[in-house]
Amino acid sequence: MTYQVLARRWRPQRFDDLVGQEVVVRSLRNALSSGQVAHAYLFSGLRGVGKTTVARLLAKALNCEKGPTADPCGVCATCVEIAAGSALDVLEMDAASNRGIDDVRELREVARVLPVRDRYRVFIVDEAHQLTDAAFNALLKILEEPPAHVVFILASTEKDKFPATILSRCQQLDFRPIPGDVIIARLQKIAAEEGFALTPGAARLVARATEGSLRDALSLLDRVRAFADAGIDEAAVTEVLGLPPQEVLLSLWDALAAGDAPRALGIVREEERLGRDTAALYAELVQLLDALLLLACDGAAPVAYAEEHRATLRASAEEVGVPLLLRLVGLALEQRAMIATADRPGLAVAVAIGRLALWPRLRRVEELLAAGGAGSTGSAPAPVAPRRSPAAGHGTPPAGNSPAIAAPTAGAAPTAQGRLGTALDDAGAHLLAGRVRAAKDVVVEGSTLVLRFPGAPAATLASLRDSLGELTAAARAAGLPDEVRVEGNGDNGQPAAPGLRQRVEADPRVQRVVGVFGGRIEKVEEKA
Ligand SMILES: [Zn+2]
Repeated sequence: MTYQVLARRWRPQRFDDLVGQEVVVRSLRNALSSGQVAHAYLFSGLRGVGKTTVARLLAKALNCEKGPTADPCGVCATCVEIAAGSALDVLEMDAASNRGIDDVRELREVARVLPVRDRYRVFIVDEAHQLTDAAFNALLKILEEPPAHVVFILASTEKDKFPATILSRCQQLDFRPIPGDVIIARLQKIAAEEGFALTPGAARLVARATEGSLRDALSLLDRVRAFADAGIDEAAVTEVLGLPPQEVLLSLWDALAAGDAPRALGIVREEERLGRDTAALYAELVQLLDALLLLACDGAAPVAYAEEHRATLRASAEEVGVPLLLRLVGLALEQRAMIATADRPGLAVAVAIGRLALWPRLRRVEELLAAGGAGSTGSAPAPVAPRRSPAAGHGTPPAGNSPAIAAPTAGAAPTAQGRLGTALDDAGAHLLAGRVRAAKDVVVEGSTLVLRFPGAPAATLASLRDSLGELTAAARAAGLPDEVRVEGNGDNGQPAAPGLRQRVEADPRVQRVVGVFGGRIEKVEEKA
């Protein structure tokens, strides 16, 4: 007995068996039960989402001996022949390989000749956007005055390539990519009925790799099954797809999260040395970032990673947070185009990953902005605590936690401001540390530590005063007076205002931003 591929063996024979195209199925069921079937349909959507399958089901529904019916019997001669692809009145044509003038004649023939046996002549044209202009014109003539016994079903992955004149005469049904969880459920059902083992993680990987195409998912399952006779797990899928092992991917993320560019690049080199495709590694990394973003939004979200890694990923996602993950995903996606067009993709991947590894700088900017920002009361989008304390860092320049920020006092003995900032960082209060570093002055006056924030918004001052407990503890830890006072600017009144530009230039937040980005102030404008 020859092996029949899963996609064929499990091709739905009834509308009820079809998964993931509820809207399409409902429209067709309604049309069939109300007797309002159109003479021309355009089924559009990605490959492998069920267009041809639905076309055949519609042909059956129209021509079944018990029909027309939304539930063809599946056993009459017509149903059996359509399922086998041998029905005389259902013609299937692939426009990708048959686009010549003969097919135009055939179209005319179809329109003229009455069905041999069944109610309708159903003409299914796959990849119909590839028809020639002559064929489209012939088709248009038929559609202008369609004979009662003809139904055309055009299937296409590229709807935008159809002439408007054709589109306007077709009933258009858009097939959606099949949701991942629907594909996963289908794979698991098929595996159970076929009697082979398929781990949930492997099913998720297959679904993810095939992006909404059930047919592709089943073909991949065939391939993995041929490779792994004992049962299908993630390792087998990864191997067949030529993907980097998950451990490699996770250690790459670990290096990126730590801002450790050399380690990240080392992993890329090693993959290259092992003969693995680093572009695939990058694609997997993009998927991982996407999954982390998903987890940051919803810790219970289903992601395609092995159970034993999921807790770690969830923690990592929470730690990094949505705003930064959004930027990371954005940066990673932008760089994908660069890799795709590079002369040396391997080098491009290394550059792209190196850049991603510099992202902890983004965190510092976030902190800076948070420190001076519109004075959150502590509940605003939480700034991210760095993953590792500075002391546990890897000593690489991009990962270093504060040198760029602390630049103004670099080299000198640590000031009260610097010591307080460090103590807060050590206590994990990084946002507060950023704010302290943004203070105009931190001075010891007798037995009091005075933090001066001239011109700071009232809300920032209030938030700082709410944190006096933490400030006091940190001051004590730093060997500073543990009586702390936060001073604004007489709190309500601004002092005699210097010129706008001078005020802006003197603003420590602005100075730090300029320091981090290495820019200069071009123009200062008052905002209305
Ligand atoms: Zn039938």
